Amino acid sequence: MVDLNDPVIKGYFINLVGEEGFKVVDKMPESEVTDEKIAEATGVLLNIVRRTLFILYENRLAVYRRVRDTDSGWLTYLWRLDLSNLESQLLIESKKILKNLKSKLQFEDGKVFYTCKAECSRFLFETASDLLFICPVCGEDLEFQDNESVVKALNQRINKIEELTSSALV
Ligand SMILES: [Zn+2]
Repeated sequence: MVDLNDPVIKGYFINLVGEEGFKVVDKMPESEVTDEKIAEATGVLLNIVRRTLFILYENRLAVYRRVRDTDSGWLTYLWRLDLSNLESQLLIESKKILKNLKSKLQFEDGKVFYTCKAECSRFLFETASDLLFICPVCGEDLEFQDNESVVKALNQRINKIEELTSSALV
């Protein structure tokens, strides 16, 4: 069973489909249903329900079946959540985040940055020196900016995600 209250899982869905979309995931009926029925059951606007279903489908977390209404001849889509791929989707997502964090870390680590009081932009030492330590945007002095806390925070996030992906999601 998937625990939608698990902060990692809930965070993943909110990131993917938003707060309203999460309501759809959380309260979606178990049987096959139409988007209109889902909107009714969850209290979420129909266009948001449709958008959410489409995103879930693209991420292989929902499936649909098309049936033709015998009276009207219209095609109806019957939707169902399928969370059997959730763990692999979470893993793919974690790997993306991890890659992103690592490239940020690589950019920050061991470098010396300069910025003005308003933090208009950040410059490496060489650039700041070329600019005579004057911010080209606001004209204030560029001063050394300690990025040790940024590097530390990035390292912590990387370690945490590596821990999660190696234990819970294998
Ligand atoms: Zn500035």
